Amino acid sequence: MNANDPNRKSWIEYNSNTDFPIQNIPFGIGKFEDGYRVCSRIGDDVIDLVALYELGLFSNISIQKSQLQNQYLNDFISLGKPITNSVRERIADILDVNDKLDAKKFRELFLINAETLEMSLPVKIGDYTDFYSSREHATNVGCMFRDPKNALLPNWLHIPVGYHGRSSSIIVSGKDVIRPKGQQQLSEGSMPVFGPCKQLDFELEMAFIVGKQNVLGTNIPIENAEEHIFGLSLFNDWSARDIQKWEYVPLGPFLSKNFASTISPWIITLEALDSFRVFGPNQDPEVLPYLKYQGAKNFDINLEVSIKPENSTEQVVSKSNFKYMYWNMAQQLAHHTINGCNMNVGDVCASGTISGPTPDSYGSMLEIAWKGTKPIAMKDGTTRSFIHDGDTVSLSGFAEKNGVRIGFGDCKAKILPAN
Ligand code: MN
Repeated sequence: MNANDPNRKSWIEYNSNTDFPIQNIPFGIGKFEDGYRVCSRIGDDVIDLVALYELGLFSNISIQKSQLQNQYLNDFISLGKPITNSVRERIADILDVNDKLDAKKFRELFLINAETLEMSLPVKIGDYTDFYSSREHATNVGCMFRDPKNALLPNWLHIPVGYHGRSSSIIVSGKDVIRPKGQQQLSEGSMPVFGPCKQLDFELEMAFIVGKQNVLGTNIPIENAEEHIFGLSLFNDWSARDIQKWEYVPLGPFLSKNFASTISPWIITLEALDSFRVFGPNQDPEVLPYLKYQGAKNFDINLEVSIKPENSTEQVVSKSNFKYMYWNMAQQLAHHTINGCNMNVGDVCASGTISGPTPDSYGSMLEIAWKGTKPIAMKDGTTRSFIHDGDTVSLSGFAEKNGVRIGFGDCKAKILPAN
């Protein structure tokens, strides 16, 4: 039986709407009293892989304890998919209702209540790239800031546009974000002012984690690209729109983006998402040969953003889907390396804001409130054009098919006032 089998059941009880059924088996890093450990998750329980190793439950898999007793997943991921997939399959067998490995009696040694364990940044991120791959998002931004008749720049339908971001400020879900300060030009032609960002925004994105390197000077052909993708997480690319507007010409975003990005702690493997593949949008004009792909390379993953004001209840402000992406991950990776750029294990590539076709599916406040011209009403009587101090922004995501629901866990952060 395969880990993805919809009929698989576990001896562990969990809610049917959990993000983490037995068919998920994600990977993350838990912070234990004696250090960090590679973990997985089922329902409300975290699974300690070091404990499973010590119990001998990874026998016949060529893995060492040091790869599991580790602050990051990089060493584990570097073992390669044949090994990491066998670990995932073995965990599914350990948790299976048939319990052929006789693991249930040791449950107290390897299961931890998720609420009692702090999760840490899952990978040591060497490099981070942010793409701009949603046609709807690029069109909305083009309409707002340039010309609605020529919303997409001439290169957009030919190149998966991206920029190199900053990895040092990517933080795990749950950590607060301090409102950035910076230069802003309040009106066209005026002198810039300095102060706290007044147009703080989220960007609803997904990120893939590179699982296999390519040597400098070589490229990853598009047909091999998915072998180089370990898995996916939710990603909020926090953006200071007023700082961005003033600084972005001619080299693109800088201080408006590098103060923080929030990533979810669990990496959902590409294998766990296999049943949720869908065909992407038709690409017209035809793309260059190195970007041509075969098969279903998009993924049907429901995405949602909510805002919780400091003293009020959480409110959904957007519902989108990862399937809307114009450029898929294989195209992004093929393009990223076509010049010989080397990708390393643990590198993060984010999708860019994922907007859908309708206003309730836009992936940023910039679009939802249309540059501040259509503020949205909150349940506590306040309005939002951008994010206020004290607001907690949460992204969530799940794929669902044949009774199996694979979710992504928390990706949230609270905004603290500027220093
Ligand atoms: Mn972005």
